[in-house]
Amino acid sequence: MQSLSYRIFLSEPTLGDAEAEAAAATIRARKVTAGPVLAEFEARFAELLGVPEVIAVSTGTAALHLCLLDAGVEPNDEVWVSDLTFVATANAASYCGAQLTVVDSERETWNLDPGIVVDELAARARAGRALPAAIVPVHLLGHPARLDPILDAAARHGVPVIEDAAEALGTTWTEGPHQGVAPGTVGMAGVFSFNGNKLMTTGGGGAIAAGDPARRARLRHLAQQGKVDGSDYEHDVIGFNYRLSHVSAAIGVAQLERLPNMLERRRAIADRYTEAFADLPEVGAQPAASWAQRSGWLASIVLADDPTRARVRAALSEEGIEARPMWRPLRRQVPYASSPVLGGTVALELADRVLCLPCSAHLTPAEQDEVIAIVRLTL
Ligand SMILES: *Cc1c(COP(=O)(O)O)cnc(C)c1O
Repeated sequence: MQSLSYRIFLSEPTLGDAEAEAAAATIRARKVTAGPVLAEFEARFAELLGVPEVIAVSTGTAALHLCLLDAGVEPNDEVWVSDLTFVATANAASYCGAQLTVVDSERETWNLDPGIVVDELAARARAGRALPAAIVPVHLLGHPARLDPILDAAARHGVPVIEDAAEALGTTWTEGPHQGVAPGTVGMAGVFSFNGNKLMTTGGGGAIAAGDPARRARLRHLAQQGKVDGSDYEHDVIGFNYRLSHVSAAIGVAQLERLPNMLERRRAIADRYTEAFADLPEVGAQPAASWAQRSGWLASIVLADDPTRARVRAALSEEGIEARPMWRPLRRQVPYASSPVLGGTVALELADRVLCLPCSAHLTPAEQDEVIAIVRLTL
């Protein structure tokens, strides 16, 4: 693909003078690694999620790695992961030495199918077979997963659930026991990403939410090289250099100011795509379950098949517009090709048919009209 010549990108960060000024201030103060804005960013992000504390870290991948380690995942343990996800979910489990089992998706939300998890946990428990060391559901493309059945079954069998909420900032459940709650805050731990392509960015960054204060203390300790508080170079465990930088935190505070507006724009863009193709039976819409509010992060459509998608993508590319297929499922990635699969082939079908369309918060209505027109003309 001709990535450098795009006029309209898939999902760019929306950044301006506020972010530039915030980053510059940390440089002028010569506090680029640690400093007071880190605590401010953590406090404000925690408030946004409605939790007492978060731990800001260098990437969402690092956040997953720490949560899985802390959940007790050890070499050769089995970890269950959504097949349809960005590869980082699986890689984090691999960093712990775990063996992956991938779980197929449900059509309703494109997320890990709760029925498969519930049935497999029950079947294994009945047969006295080993249970997974952790389950990692992903809230894919800004749509909350159906988590309650998974949480219930996992709790019954004593299996930790780590939520990958890297794509789920700004989403919520609108019904049930977690009505109004942010995905990423209900599992044993949950992780967020502030990579440049996500809803909000700190350049690179991530955050962890965890309900148990002792767990949060352990995770923070692990993220800062296992340094004993107040000590000089005393380290009581093998930790990681996973803290978010002060420059990034400053950018993050500025992004949080912009977040409500970016979220509103992303949602409106996703809704507009859904409306624009509603009359075309050959175009399927992105999930929008009645029991959830989505974020519109990575607006997408479902096309008839892979060749149709390739045609539409090429037609957009021809006009300098970037569109990309959905994540490639883990079972089609070289390192995970031999992982056992639970369930069927819904993830594979979605992977062949879903096309993500431009949805940056600053995409203009005229630009979106152009995308819509090209898609319609090509079909
Ligand atoms: C982006 C992403 C990650 C990784 O986050 P980084 O901050 O890029 O390390 C993990 N899981 C999912 C589902 C993601 O989309």
